[in-house]
Amino acid sequence: MDAIAGCSANLTGFLNPHRKSQQFGHQSCLTRRNPLLMPICCSAGSPSSPSHAYDVVIIGAGIIGLTIARQFLLETRLSVAVVDKGVPCSGATGAGQGYIWMTHKTPGSETWELSMRSHKLWEELAEQVKADGLIPSQVMGWRRTGSLLVGQTPEEIDTLQMRVNLLSQAGLKAEYLSSNELRLKEPALAVGDGSSAAFLCDDSQLDAHRTVAYIEKVNRRFAAEGRYAEFYYNPVASFVRSGTTGDIVGVQTSENTLYSNRAVVVAAGCWSGCLMRELFRNSDVELDIPVKPRKGHLLVVENFSAFKLNHGSMEAGYVDHRAMNMGDESLLISMTATMNAVGNLILGSSRQFSGFGVEEDETIIDYIWNRAGKFFPALNEMNLESLRRSRKVRVGLRPYMPDGKPVIGPVPGAPNVFLATGHEGGGLSMALGTAELVTDIVLGNPSLVDCSPFAVEGRCWSRF
Ligand SMILES: Cc1cc2nc3c(=O)[nH]c(=O)nc-3n(C[C@H](O)[C@H](O)[C@H](O)COP(=O)(O)OP(=O)(O)OC[C@H]3O[C@@H](n4cnc5c(N)ncnc54)[C@H](O)[C@@H]3O)c2cc1C
Repeated sequence: MDAIAGCSANLTGFLNPHRKSQQFGHQSCLTRRNPLLMPICCSAGSPSSPSHAYDVVIIGAGIIGLTIARQFLLETRLSVAVVDKGVPCSGATGAGQGYIWMTHKTPGSETWELSMRSHKLWEELAEQVKADGLIPSQVMGWRRTGSLLVGQTPEEIDTLQMRVNLLSQAGLKAEYLSSNELRLKEPALAVGDGSSAAFLCDDSQLDAHRTVAYIEKVNRRFAAEGRYAEFYYNPVASFVRSGTTGDIVGVQTSENTLYSNRAVVVAAGCWSGCLMRELFRNSDVELDIPVKPRKGHLLVVENFSAFKLNHGSMEAGYVDHRAMNMGDESLLISMTATMNAVGNLILGSSRQFSGFGVEEDETIIDYIWNRAGKFFPALNEMNLESLRRSRKVRVGLRPYMPDGKPVIGPVPGAPNVFLATGHEGGGLSMALGTAELVTDIVLGNPSLVDCSPFAVEGRCWSRF
């Protein structure tokens, strides 16, 4: 896990002279022949760093940045560069559990349409992988396991029944399971007689690392025709502005000047707020994006054999993250459990506001393990300490927005700059819908999903 101490360490943390910058598919803009890539006349790039020109420059190679790149490459003729201060999966994406579920999403909420569209696009992508002669479970860790939202208290059970009705009305195959039906569906799950669950048979999960590797591979196919490049270990430090108009025409990284003809998309996860503040420093634009890091721990037990999970499970309290308050308002634990394509048990997860640090906390792992034991009693007979050699901990910083919605759209006062961040615990599931939305917004196309709930204006303080 990359130890990024904080936002202000963006540059210093990655200017290690021993760390070789990793670039893929780039050419100097001066040697390009493709008219799409002609360099723009501008004055403010760093004179000493190599310069390159693309139509779209994307800051952030997490799931959001990489899927936006994929969308531009597949659906347009534009050229794309992705730039990251680290590598893909060094941010929240690398910690993600991988559920692409609708059970805990609420029909009619402001993120519903985006989630539904994304869900459909993930299904289509898995089908496409199959049509290409590949195996989605191998390539993306894709498994259509269905998902269970498990309730234990009378209030939770009432809410689950209403949820099943709403999900069914919204067109999903939702089922309400009594405690007996639940035991048959998922024998390892031992909950009391008063328990029940909402079940969505069509929900799927993926492996974030495999899926990211697959998306990178797809994107890299466009490098040969000069339409794609990656600049990793290249923290973005400033905007490049036109000497004549002052317009933003690219970004300056630690090693490169990257010009953009059409758009700069900031998809820098929980770092987007402080990065934007830094990028607009000493300019007419003041922007405060209230995105902040919400730390999460996940426990992976490799080659788990004590029981098998037929489905993914989540406790009902996950929906509003009130499942298990650890006495400290800023630390919440709710049970999520999945088994991946290679038989690893993955248990989540914690939520915590504690800055930009990503150090592991053993106490939190104990909480996650004990909470899972309340649903899977077989775990109580095992000693977490004895699993030390087969367990791994993942820690990531979810990009949290206080109003619970991602922020996707143009930045007021900065033509050609766009934001795509703030997906908190749903960035994997909402990625493909977000990518489609960003592409439509940049191109000025009508979008399938209403983009107004995600607009920057009115949610992020700005002055220009
Ligand atoms: C424990 C845990 C479990 C989760 N489980 C799920 C799940 O099951 N399903 C789901 O849908 N979501 C899940 N999520 C949420 C999901 O992982 C995130 O919403 C998603 O990964 C956010 O993606 P992103 O691309 O916006 O951010 P990130 O993955 O954080 O990527 C942002 C990138 O920006 C780069 N960057 C930052 N600053 C700069 C700079 N100055 N210059 C260049 N690059 C920069 C970073 O290096 C990073 O690579 C989980 C998250 C956690 C922590």
